[in-house]
Amino acid sequence: MGVLAAYGVKDVATRIYYGLHNLQHRGQEGGGIATFDEEGHYYRYRGLGLLSEIFTDGEVTRLKGSLGMGSVKYANASKGGLDNVEPLFFHHRSGDFAVAADGNVVNSRQIVAYLEKRGTIFQTGTDSELLAHLVKKNAGEDRIVNIVKALNMMEGGFAVVIMTPNRIYAARDKHGIKPLCIGTLDGGYVVSSESCAFSIMGAQFLRDVKPGEIVSLDRHGIRSTLYSRFSRYRMCAMEFIYFARPDSDIDGCNVHAYREEAGRRLARECPVEADMVVGVPESSLSAAMGYSQESGIPYEMGLVKHKYVGRTFIEPTQDMRELGVKMKLSPVQSIVGGKRIVLVDDSIVRGTTSLKIVKMLREAGATEVHVRIASPMMRFTCHYGVDTSTPEELLCSHRTLEEARQAIGADSLGYLSPESTRESAFGCADPCQACFTGEYPTLLYDDLNESED
Ligand code: SF4
Repeated sequence: MGVLAAYGVKDVATRIYYGLHNLQHRGQEGGGIATFDEEGHYYRYRGLGLLSEIFTDGEVTRLKGSLGMGSVKYANASKGGLDNVEPLFFHHRSGDFAVAADGNVVNSRQIVAYLEKRGTIFQTGTDSELLAHLVKKNAGEDRIVNIVKALNMMEGGFAVVIMTPNRIYAARDKHGIKPLCIGTLDGGYVVSSESCAFSIMGAQFLRDVKPGEIVSLDRHGIRSTLYSRFSRYRMCAMEFIYFARPDSDIDGCNVHAYREEAGRRLARECPVEADMVVGVPESSLSAAMGYSQESGIPYEMGLVKHKYVGRTFIEPTQDMRELGVKMKLSPVQSIVGGKRIVLVDDSIVRGTTSLKIVKMLREAGATEVHVRIASPMMRFTCHYGVDTSTPEELLCSHRTLEEARQAIGADSLGYLSPESTRESAFGCADPCQACFTGEYPTLLYDDLNESED
């Protein structure tokens, strides 16, 4: 998911609408924008699909105010439907507020059980609603104290935004697994999942929100509260590898630069004799450039992407994913015909895409297809909100390297090491690599009894 919020910005809904377009790659199943006007009146519009399908008839201009927030989401099996499209809005005697969150709270089952026993009724399956109930559990206390307490009860990888009629609160999990950054605009402030949203809004990047930090944006400016003493930078490696846009900077590291360096390291770790390097558009192009630079094998555009087809691995069903692969890529026959190809991809999740692309390239006349992956073998499920699917569905959860090569039909297969995956971040982060290594940065709470308080 992608979240975005702005304080003190003229035509805030329109600015957020444009900013969300630059976060659309983070989710295409739904989206929404909410604002407060100067009198504290609340406005919201949300829907299912792409932003261009949701906001079709001037709805953005009817969202008044200079304080607003928005989100784009992708669905997974349990959290689809309009009810789960954020921002969510809550009435409360202490003041109305809206919430949106990216990521996943791993102890949500335990917290839901704890709250339900005390009379809370949930209307959605979102972590945003969980956070709202936790914040209002002790509504008599100071609001920031309540938010600190609530965030300390939540474990996982998340970035959250809370909007009241006069303030934005934005916070990042204490492990820094999910990205969140701050910018300035028109003398006001913007927070976003990725800095690429700032350019289209006309905002200037200020800094990343720190792991375990809450920033408050209001007429006093930016105020910072550290809600945990146990914070560290364990940014999701898959954000660098696949999810984030190449023009985003995360925790001091540019995403394109990360991928290019990963490609250079991949060429050193998994060399092969070939005639050309071809990247799988678009998230693998930077890594393919890096591979080409390091190996000296020319980079060519051997695959062309059809625009306007969604990403395959965040589409919710297998049928949709398979159809998506067929629709989204074409080999360039006159370029790849008769050539030995190094096919660079960012990752292999289920293997659906890789198998089809290798076949496509062979049918277009490639004599050899050597697959090189700019990340380690994905063997484990993500518990922090990236829908990498169940272990049974992952290509490499139960296969050796040779078995994986056979499954995708490549002449050879090579993966980047976890060490190079970390070092490609230039020391900016020690990224979470749990889906490769199985070493999760948090407890997973799978075995804990949810009926215990
Ligand atoms: S497990 Fe993988 S996808 Fe999930 S946060 Fe860690 S690196 Fe990212």
